[in-house]
Amino acid sequence: MSDYRPPLRDVRFALEKVAGLPALAELDVFAHADIETTADLLEEVGRFAAEVIAPTNRDGDLEGAVLEGDRVRTPASFKRAHDQYVGAGWGTLQHAVEHGGGGFPLLVSTAVKEMFTSANMAFSLCPLLTTGAVHALTIHGDADLKETYLGQLVTGEWAGSMNLTEPQAGSDLAEIRTRAVPAEDGTYRIFGQKIFITFGEHDLTENIIHLVLARLPDAPPGTKGLSLFLVPKLFVNADGTLGERNDLRCIAIEHKLGIHGSPTCVMSFGDDGDGAVGFLVGEANSGMRQMFTMMNDARLGVGVQGLAIAERAFQQAVGYARERIQGRPPRRDDDPEPAETTIVDHPDVRRMIMTMRAYIEAMRCLVYVNAEALDRALHDPDPAVAAERQALADLLTPISKAWCSDVGVEVASLALQVHGGAGYIEETGAAQHYRDARIAPIYEGTNGIQAIDLVGRKLHSDGGETARRLIDEIRATATAIDDPALATVGDHLVEATVALEKATQWILAADPTEMLAGATPYLRMFGQVAGGWLLARSALAALGDLADAGADEDFLRAKITTARFYADNLLPLATSLLPAVTAGSDDLFAISAERLAS
Ligand SMILES: Cc1cc2nc3c(=O)[nH]c(=O)nc-3n(C[C@H](O)[C@H](O)[C@H](O)COP(=O)(O)OP(=O)(O)OC[C@H]3O[C@@H](n4cnc5c(N)ncnc54)[C@H](O)[C@@H]3O)c2cc1C
Repeated sequence: MSDYRPPLRDVRFALEKVAGLPALAELDVFAHADIETTADLLEEVGRFAAEVIAPTNRDGDLEGAVLEGDRVRTPASFKRAHDQYVGAGWGTLQHAVEHGGGGFPLLVSTAVKEMFTSANMAFSLCPLLTTGAVHALTIHGDADLKETYLGQLVTGEWAGSMNLTEPQAGSDLAEIRTRAVPAEDGTYRIFGQKIFITFGEHDLTENIIHLVLARLPDAPPGTKGLSLFLVPKLFVNADGTLGERNDLRCIAIEHKLGIHGSPTCVMSFGDDGDGAVGFLVGEANSGMRQMFTMMNDARLGVGVQGLAIAERAFQQAVGYARERIQGRPPRRDDDPEPAETTIVDHPDVRRMIMTMRAYIEAMRCLVYVNAEALDRALHDPDPAVAAERQALADLLTPISKAWCSDVGVEVASLALQVHGGAGYIEETGAAQHYRDARIAPIYEGTNGIQAIDLVGRKLHSDGGETARRLIDEIRATATAIDDPALATVGDHLVEATVALEKATQWILAADPTEMLAGATPYLRMFGQVAGGWLLARSALAALGDLADAGADEDFLRAKITTARFYADNLLPLATSLLPAVTAGSDDLFAISAERLAS
């Protein structure tokens, strides 16, 4: 057993009352994902996450991944847990039924992902990347590639990896130099080196299917000349058995701040001279387009990591605060000296705990609403609804990725702070959550790049129409609030929408440098407002449910309190960001680069 408790009650509430799972399950394709079946499924997932995966979290941090020759050894507990994960079929849930998957909506698999990630973020990266590989093949692979590789990737018997980054090509993939040379047999020979490849090599699965971005000899420069290749670690024979090793290997793994159990590999392709054999996925020179089709899902997955690690850190902090005795409650001069108390009774500790709680519930709603939009974009029978949801998902995805991963770090930091000095000491485990959380704002496109994506591509692609529609919806929620218990929620939400609207107009009218200078505060503002909006919707749903016979009154009243806390304490931050959004770039560049650090 571990100290992780799956937040099943809150997950169900967010799925049912905010993200609209019951309506989604009315679509034929998701008829089996009704709320009761989903709740039963999540209970099983939660048990598995808590009992099998969560106990591996500390091993992963302490033992880490180790390079032995060109093999990577993960902690023994990882292999045992992964075998059970594959055996139970958890990896298949979200994949299409025709490929052996469970056909559940992304919305449900997002809740599943949250629990596995809370249990052990480093471990969860292996299934996350495998899911990415399944998507790439499902959408872009030809019949042969699907036939050969999809089955074992869907079950998780084989793992996937994503090979984009090179030393000179991080945020800017236009600089990728890995070469792909056509061979006479219709395959390609891959030569080059990739860095920072998560689970590029490991011992959890027998085979690893690498997806590699590389450049053909006659390819145009820049991102338009990138193609996607499937490069297996072990060849697959015609009868499906595994054959010889391909010409690729892990030549180093990184020593890093957190997620120690997740090997971050330097991968070398074609060292033996003839090149690693690769198979083209989709059309030549369309690798970036293929990556983009997977990006919403992968970026949302990193947003979920922010939520998940925050939840784990929060649970631990609350447990500690309930037990740690220190100080006495406040009193007036003439009151008798009170007894020492647990720190959970100090207003400042309560402030930290409520901040964590409010952010976590807001993040959960945001990533679920984002996932539901992606589900409808793909499956809603009404093309107008599908298009509208695609536009919403496109807008929300950089916000989910960056806002949730930044807030995840803040929550993990607050959880450490609640522990006082004990938080800074490794034994309590609070420090691990903080270290693990720190990668999420960096990979899958840094949060700076997400902000650029939001203001550049997403906002401008439709002249701000989707953003305006969303702001109108937020305002409609705010003005519909008429219960005195939520009065400040409505007021603060209206103020925040006014600021967000002004910021949006300013961004749309600004020249490129000014716009980019305001991008990060704008994304933060949007996330902060979206969080307040979704908690307001939660509170309204909770108010409605209070009238039901047998309602869980404590839970529902806590929802209302949490929404109010967010509105009073965290939502005003959105309005305060307006000057930063609109400040422009003059002061950013007024001091020369040479003088910046002098
Ligand atoms: C633990 C770990 C796991 C990873 N896993 C994988 C993986 O599995 N596969 C893979 O391919 N890659 C992986 N990566 C790579 C990761 O995606 C990159 O590190 C990330 O995209 C940033 O690239 P970079 O490190 O080169 O930073 P840089 O691109 O050099 O960025 C440095 C800073 O400059 C900013 N910046 C850069 N360009 C711009 C711009 N145009 N405008 C504004 N700001 C800018 C960035 O936001 C950042 O703050 C991983 C990295 C780590 C650390």
